[in-house]
Amino acid sequence: MNGEWSERTKLAQALGAIDEKSRAVVPPIHIASTFIRDPDNQYRSGNVYGRPDNETVREAEAIIAAIEGAQSAFVLGSGMSAAVAVFLALKPGDHIVAPKVMYWALRNWLMNDAASWGLETTFVDMTNLDAVAAAIRPGKTALIWAETPANPLWTITDIEAVAALAHRSGARLAVDSTCASPLLTRTLDFGADIVMHAATKYLNGHSDVLAGALATRSDDEFWARIKRNRAAMGLILGPFEAFLLIRGMRTLALRMEAACASAMELATRFANHARVSEVLYPGLASHAGHAIAKRQMRGGFGGMLSIRVRGGEAAAIATAARVELWKRATSLGGVESLIEHRASIEGAGSPCPPDLLRLSAGIEDVEDLYRDLSRALDASA
Ligand SMILES: *Cc1c(COP(=O)(O)O)cnc(C)c1O
Repeated sequence: MNGEWSERTKLAQALGAIDEKSRAVVPPIHIASTFIRDPDNQYRSGNVYGRPDNETVREAEAIIAAIEGAQSAFVLGSGMSAAVAVFLALKPGDHIVAPKVMYWALRNWLMNDAASWGLETTFVDMTNLDAVAAAIRPGKTALIWAETPANPLWTITDIEAVAALAHRSGARLAVDSTCASPLLTRTLDFGADIVMHAATKYLNGHSDVLAGALATRSDDEFWARIKRNRAAMGLILGPFEAFLLIRGMRTLALRMEAACASAMELATRFANHARVSEVLYPGLASHAGHAIAKRQMRGGFGGMLSIRVRGGEAAAIATAARVELWKRATSLGGVESLIEHRASIEGAGSPCPPDLLRLSAGIEDVEDLYRDLSRALDASA
C-alpha cells in the first residue's frame, strides 16, 4: 500500500491485503502449525513451524509497523507478555528506570519478580526530568520504561526529553503507549526506541481479544533477542486472535475519535459537577501534563480519564455500584464504556487515591454516559 496514504486509510483496508487466489477482500486465517519442506531440503516459503511463523500474525504486525513508522513490529499473546519480552531481553545486572505511575501488574512484576532475572528497577516520578536523570546509572542503566498517558492518573511523560536522557547514557527508551494508541502519538517519532501496546485495549477495541504489540525504531540485536524470547517462550498470538485484532484495527480511527470526543466532553462537564472534587484528564488545561500532551498527542487526548468523588472511597464505590449504562469492569479501550474503582484492583504500593473512579469512554452517546454517571454520583451523596 502507498506509504503516503494516511494511517486511517491504511487501517481501514488493513494495508489493502487481499487473497490472491480467491480475490477475497479479506485474507484467510492461516491456522497451520507446520509447513511443507521443499524436496531439496529448503523452506523457500519462509515458513517452517507455527510458533515463530504465521502469515496472519505477520499481517497484523505489518499493519502496526506501518502506522507506528517502525522498522519492525511483533504481536504477542498479551500486553504483559509484550512488556516482559522486552525486560527479559536485558542481561543480568542491568538496571531499569520505571515510573511510579504505571500499569499496576507490570509495576508488580518489576517490583517482585524481575530481580530473579538479575534486573534491578528504580521507580521515579517520570514527569520530573531531574529525578529521571538522577536515577540513571551510566553504564548500568540499560532501559528506561515510560507509560504515557499513565494509569490511572493520566500522567504525561515528555517522550522526547526522556529519550534524550536515555540516549545520553547509552540506555534505551521503551514506552507503553496503550492509552494513546499509535494514532494519537507516534512514539518512535519522538525518539523512543521501542513502543509497546496492550493490543487488548484500543488496537483490538472490542473487549474480545488479549494481545500485545511491540514496534521498534531499529531492527537491531536487542530486537533480535526479543524475537528469540517470543519464539523460545511461546509468547505468541494465535491466528484467530490475530485475525480479530486485524478486524478491530480497521476501525481504530473511528473508535479513537469517538472515545476522545466523549472523554473530553465528560472531563469538562464532570469538572463542574458538585459531587466531583477533581477530574484527571490530559485534555484539561488544569492537568499538569497538558502542555506536553498538546505537543505529543494529535487528534485528541485519549479516551481515558479519572474522577475523584467527594465523600471518599465509600462514595466512589457506591457510585460505581449505581451506574446502569457504564459497565463496572476493569480494562479499557473497548467500544463499551467502563468504570472502575481503581484502588480496589491496584493494591499496595499504588499511587491511586481511594476516591478515584477510572473511566474508559466508549463509543456510546455521550449524553447517555453523562446522565447515567451524574445520576449515580448524586444518588451516592
Ligand atoms: C492492559 C494493559 C497492559 C497489559 O495488557 P494485557 O493485554 O492485559 O496483558 C499493559 N499496559 C497498559 C497501559 C494496560 O492498560
